[in-house]
Amino acid sequence: LRQADGSYAWYRDRGAARRNLEGKITHWYGMLEDVSDRHVAEEARRYSDKVALRVLEMTDDAVIVFNQDGIITYSNAIAAKLLGDGSTLNGTQIKDLFIESWNQEVKNTIDCIIGTEQNRHLEIFWPYQDMWLDVRLYASTSDISMFIRNNSEQHIAQKKLIYAANHDLLTGAANRTAIFAKISDILARQAPESKIALFCLDVDYFKEINDKYGHPAGDSLLQQIVSRLQSHLRENDAVARCGGDEFLIMQTAIRTPTDAIRLAERLGAEMQEAFEINGVSIKTSVSMGIAISSFGETNVDRLYQQADRALYLAKRKGRGGYRLFSPEMQTLLDKTAHLHTDLASALAREEFFLEFQPIIDLFEKCVVGVEALVRWQHPEKGVVSPAEFIPIAEECGLITELGAWVVRRACEAAHLLPESLRVSVNISPRQFELDNVYRIVRNALLTTGLPAERLKLEITESVLLVKNSLNRKTLQALRDIGVTLVLDDFGTGYSSLSYLDIFKFDYIKIDQSFIARIKNEGDRHQVFEAVMGMTKALNLPATAEGIETEAQLRYAQSLGCEYAQGNYFAKPMQSDELHRFLSSPLRTPI
Ligand code: C2E
Ligand code: MG
Ligand code: MG
Repeated sequence: LRQADGSYAWYRDRGAARRNLEGKITHWYGMLEDVSDRHVAEEARRYSDKVALRVLEMTDDAVIVFNQDGIITYSNAIAAKLLGDGSTLNGTQIKDLFIESWNQEVKNTIDCIIGTEQNRHLEIFWPYQDMWLDVRLYASTSDISMFIRNNSEQHIAQKKLIYAANHDLLTGAANRTAIFAKISDILARQAPESKIALFCLDVDYFKEINDKYGHPAGDSLLQQIVSRLQSHLRENDAVARCGGDEFLIMQTAIRTPTDAIRLAERLGAEMQEAFEINGVSIKTSVSMGIAISSFGETNVDRLYQQADRALYLAKRKGRGGYRLFSPEMQTLLDKTAHLHTDLASALAREEFFLEFQPIIDLFEKCVVGVEALVRWQHPEKGVVSPAEFIPIAEECGLITELGAWVVRRACEAAHLLPESLRVSVNISPRQFELDNVYRIVRNALLTTGLPAERLKLEITESVLLVKNSLNRKTLQALRDIGVTLVLDDFGTGYSSLSYLDIFKFDYIKIDQSFIARIKNEGDRHQVFEAVMGMTKALNLPATAEGIETEAQLRYAQSLGCEYAQGNYFAKPMQSDELHRFLSSPLRTPI
């Protein structure tokens, strides 16, 4: 009605007729009630219902509302399509939508939530549409609303994260964390008769392969290695890559160490087959250390440490082999661990000293030089051999400091010897890797004032094994300042003619293991003779090391060996004793 002020308002109009005795209407009476407020509110409610409905129809979620009896009272179109055939779900029992066994969790949740005012959240796989669904339920006293959302993308991203946390992404193998967890788990419920073997694998000279063929080729090699390893494993076994060229293998359910050895031999042979990478055939090998769990052992770190130690010893024996961890190794391990800590402070406590072993010219029959050999005066263990502590110093990097100390001391000592004598110093391949050998040698020469011509460096061929030319350049630079270069321990390790070709040494020292086989007059050694033949062809003067008997000396002489060194002439000795030795004529017949 239009009101006096011109505005409109809503009224409810009620009227009633009054009749007389004959039933005839005599008059009307009634009232007008202002219902504007109620009307507006109603309008608003109708509007908001419409909006809510529209929103529910537009949302990406499937929405279902059901009552306390489980009867669906509302479902949007998406719900109808996702959970049914597209026709409305209203009136259906909610649990009838989840009848398959994989939906048990949903049914349980519905059972729990009815009659409460709780909210619930769960994630389910919906195989019909190949989706992961995120399901949220909100309960009130009257009804329960269910919002279902396709969560596949997030689920996959999450799965990828979990995958990345447990795998090596280059090869797809497990990573260290994952395999350690697996091993821990198995160790915890290990039966006495079934053990596991843990293999530590290292690809031999991987760095060199990487340098020579490039990183993509190196990556491809690692991938191929993993698939070859996997092809030899059984279902419950596992392979993991733990960075660089290191792998772990867990062999389960083994009964005797022979089971592990058989696998090691199979893997070793398999790895020696050439790898085809971008049309190039690359050969390599792996070194392996193996530890077998003992019943009751649950510490995966300890098992790993044992396998790693066995690997270290396998590598020291030469590449491409395997070693099984033994309790004796544990003793060695403990001993090394002690030496390790002691070694760190040995240099500061001045516990190292040098001994010198004369080198004899077999033609001139006189001493022409000495080889400096380092010793360690251990406070409790007495004198420790370099064969024992040099590998440890190499491992922990202390070899750089120690090596520099040896060069300087040797140069100082050489200064006090007759000018005709030269001093030989051993340089570890690790020093080339970790330090600037040229700078160290040059500094030692400068600070001691020893002419470079009086210094000889003994290196092993593994220095040349590194395919990049840096080491060769260092050697050439040393040669350019006048230092003499000796190839030490020739005939062991990788010895091949090619190394004599790669770099022209001044001298060659034939490894003492060959001479050691000559016991009696008339004994011969083919490798020794072959190497001697080679040195003659290359015009390289040879030194025979480790001469202990006259028979050995005669044999070396018969092959035309120029120089010799060994206990037969003189043991390694300290400076004062050396001076005495040099001042008197040689006592042994040459
Ligand atoms: P190497 O360079 O081959 O040294 C020769 C080894 O043969 C020395 O062992 C020496 O004492 C030993 N020897 C000499 N004559 C005889 C003999 O008649 N019979 C036998 N059986 N052995 C003999 P040592 O002093 O124990 O040194 C072992 C190895 O340790 C050396 O082998 C060398 O590779 C390394 N080394 C020693 N001192 C140094 C050093 O200052 N720096 C580096 N990097 N390595 C060193
Ligand atoms: Mg030597
Ligand atoms: Mg030697």
